[in-house]
Amino acid sequence: MSQYAQQHQAINLSQGFPDFDGDDFLKQRVSHYINSGLNQYAPMTGLVQLREQIANKIDSQYGLEVCPDRQVTVTSGATEALFAAIMAVVKTGDEVVVLDPAYDSYDPAIRLAGGKAVHVALNDDFSINFDALRQACNARTRLLIINSPHNPSGATISYEDMLSLQSLVLEFDTLLLSDEVYEHIIFDGADHQSALRFSELAQRSFVVSSFGKTFHTTGWKVGYCVAPAELSTEFRKVHQYLTFSTSTPMQAAIADTLAEKPELWQNLPRFYQQKRDHLQQALAPSRLKLLPCRGTYFQVVDYSAISDLNELDFAKWLTREVKVAVIPISVFYQQPREQKLARLCFAKNESTLTQAAERLCQL
Ligand code: PMP
Ligand code: GLN
Repeated sequence: MSQYAQQHQAINLSQGFPDFDGDDFLKQRVSHYINSGLNQYAPMTGLVQLREQIANKIDSQYGLEVCPDRQVTVTSGATEALFAAIMAVVKTGDEVVVLDPAYDSYDPAIRLAGGKAVHVALNDDFSINFDALRQACNARTRLLIINSPHNPSGATISYEDMLSLQSLVLEFDTLLLSDEVYEHIIFDGADHQSALRFSELAQRSFVVSSFGKTFHTTGWKVGYCVAPAELSTEFRKVHQYLTFSTSTPMQAAIADTLAEKPELWQNLPRFYQQKRDHLQQALAPSRLKLLPCRGTYFQVVDYSAISDLNELDFAKWLTREVKVAVIPISVFYQQPREQKLARLCFAKNESTLTQAAERLCQL
């Protein structure tokens, strides 16, 4: 869709990435480290100072002590961490439960590992359908994948639902892969319910995050995985031969930023809530129906008052004719859906959002 947006000179609210830059401090540190010669391989598990900063952040945020040496692994983006976690534990014939709509990288990784992805649709409000989830679990279920705050819906998993997930994981003796790349982008004063807050879950989970989201640097591809030592050992066997290690100057700069500028991630809820509110207010006069957005930088809209086109055709039409590119929600489902929803990325300057909303209000 980004290519299509470019081709039609549309405002690109499709692919999720900011149209503004990361903080100057971060960029200056990267160039400092490049110019001072930090340009060779980092250790396989990540620079020690970065792993320590990640462990500190987890302790301060989720009240869990993790060992930087044995439990934290720096990866080349969350995408690599998701892939390595799946490869590490899913064997031929294993089943993995995926909740649809789901981020697009889970299913191919499961299939490449020889596993079978069992897709369970979320409820219409994007909460977990526990009856359906329970029915999908059995003795072959090796892993359950969750994502909160959730791409594409902007929904979050509640404390109560995390407790129910914990019971289910224990009952079926499965592992959990918790995709928490939007952990710091959560609104209206809510707390992110990380799997790391739940002791039984933390003992059975790979928790994945991304500095691309946290520091507005999606092109740097630096993320990490936190898991118990035994799971991290298996994870690292895959990571070692997948990428081996991650960009050294980027890691050093991110470690400094976590240590010296914690306000950059601490202010993210307020920073993105302003953008969400700006977009919502600008779209209020439109005929789009806005669904609740509790986290992430995605706003889902229902366009059924405007068009009968299916989601893919609508997204393309909107890009070509209205010059605003969005993502159809149907692409995140395995089964075709009768719904008229589109995802708008609001990780954009307010002027970009205003201009896009003006166009959408004319429909
Ligand atoms: N999971 C989700 C839900 C995402 O939205 C993204 C960002 N595209 C990723 C994982 C991948 O993150 P990264 O860019 O760090 O690989
Ligand atoms: N996560 C981003 C999105 O959902 C983009 C990542 C990608 O394009 N693969 O739009």
